[in-house]
Amino acid sequence: MGEHTAVPRLTITQDNQFFFAAAREGRLEIQRCTGCQTLRHPPGPACPVCRSFAWDTVVASGRAVLHSWTVLYHPKDPAFDYPLAVGLADLEEGVRLVADIAGIDHDRLEIGLPLRVGFSEHAHGEILPQLRPRDPKEHTR
Ligand SMILES: [Zn+2]
Repeated sequence: MGEHTAVPRLTITQDNQFFFAAAREGRLEIQRCTGCQTLRHPPGPACPVCRSFAWDTVVASGRAVLHSWTVLYHPKDPAFDYPLAVGLADLEEGVRLVADIAGIDHDRLEIGLPLRVGFSEHAHGEILPQLRPRDPKEHTR
């Protein structure tokens, strides 16, 4: 990890602490309203559907498909390798996740590409989700 990274440290709140704690243990967790069961990501204090402040979390399967992506070339931060692909993934649970993409040539990226969410170490030693191509034979956990 570069010493001169401009990447800000994570802002940990009482609403998102679970997400980063689970990531450190290799789990992708999604916030769920206990009032109406709606899943939401990124985490927030209140349900956008029923306005309840009560929530718990569910563990996501990690299966997703690529909704959109971009490839970054500049500016280069020493915390990342470039060109850097960043994707917006549709998790099978119905929420979307932004993460970098690894393990596939960028010219093979396409909308609908099957993905699996893994984890990798980022700037400041944080563990964050990473999108990787999914084995097409993988249908169930
Ligand atoms: Zn709700």
